[in-house]
Amino acid sequence: MVELLDTRRRPLRDLRISVTDRCNMRCRYCMPREVFGSDFAFLSKVDILTYEEIDRLVGLFVSLGVEKIRLSGGEPLLRKDLHELITMLAIRDVEIAMTTNGVLLPRYAPALSTAGLDRVTVSLDALDEATFAAITDSGHTVAAVLAGIEAADSVGLGPIKINAVVKKGVNEEEILDLVERFSSRNIATRFIEYMDVGTTNGWAMEDVVAADEIRTILSDLERLPSQYQGEVAKRYRLPQGGEVGLITSVTEPFCGDCTRARLSADGHLYTCLFASRGLDLLTPMREGATDDDLLALIESCWMARDDRYSEIRAEESPSRVRVEMSYIGG
Ligand code: SAM
Ligand code: SF4
Ligand code: SF4
Repeated sequence: MVELLDTRRRPLRDLRISVTDRCNMRCRYCMPREVFGSDFAFLSKVDILTYEEIDRLVGLFVSLGVEKIRLSGGEPLLRKDLHELITMLAIRDVEIAMTTNGVLLPRYAPALSTAGLDRVTVSLDALDEATFAAITDSGHTVAAVLAGIEAADSVGLGPIKINAVVKKGVNEEEILDLVERFSSRNIATRFIEYMDVGTTNGWAMEDVVAADEIRTILSDLERLPSQYQGEVAKRYRLPQGGEVGLITSVTEPFCGDCTRARLSADGHLYTCLFASRGLDLLTPMREGATDDDLLALIESCWMARDDRYSEIRAEESPSRVRVEMSYIGG
């Protein structure tokens, strides 16, 4: 097979699939309630990819080199019978992971594991209930997320990772508590720099806690080598044992190695998290496109890819429309 490369010689290895743009939380940095309120026009059921359509596209992406699938959203566990999709995908030679806010894991983890889900990443920005409530703005609790992590662990959906977005003045004080809670259990916490995804979260550089500041807070970290090309997190060993990761999209961009494509719930292919537009695959698919037609569309989209938003952020116009993370899949 000839390797499919973009204009910067980056292969296509990872596919993130948003299975729904809906969520049961309203994290301030992702889906602020003022914008994503009861009158927000979420995608309707007929406009989102069916499981059969997702499975067909995954088959095509795998034939082009994709080795890892990550289900995301919105909150992926809000999509009905998600285990049925996983059963379909699991026959392929790919790793299947999911990013979730965790609160529905106690209900669904056993079926997901049986269906063939390999592992989960659970988002949790704070252990303090009041801080968590202020961030997630939804009535869900830290206790519910912790129960979700236990449920995932008990059915072998590991190694589990924790994603924590750090925002200045909001949750820096949670960093050490999160590390203490999870490092002894072989669960790596990954601290994510607050990013300017979408246009609704009111992002400002002053709100970013830079990776360097996080390293200072954690102190005495030993850098670990990356495990594969395109690994998103920089990994470190903690002095007390265990591991943490830093996702440094803002202050230490990693576009040079970015092998990720994203598929929105309505079947658009995006080649960057900060893109304005995606390639519609749903319409041609529903109009009868053959596999070869779809492969040609995906190939030419990837071959034309020149994205490196994080590296050129300072040169970009802040007013350029960027898709929302809840739509494109985190
Ligand atoms: N709802 C699921 C969850 O929260 O895990 C999956 C979708 S969410 C969009 C995926 C990841 O994106 C989460 O870990 C979330 O914290 C992260 N995220 C969302 N908005 C972000 C932002 N503005 N900056 C950095 N990370 C963000
Ligand atoms: Fe929902 Fe995840 Fe976005 Fe929070 S980060 S609003 S849980 S999609
Ligand atoms: Fe990849 Fe775009 Fe993020 Fe750069 S900014 S790492 S190209 S998704």
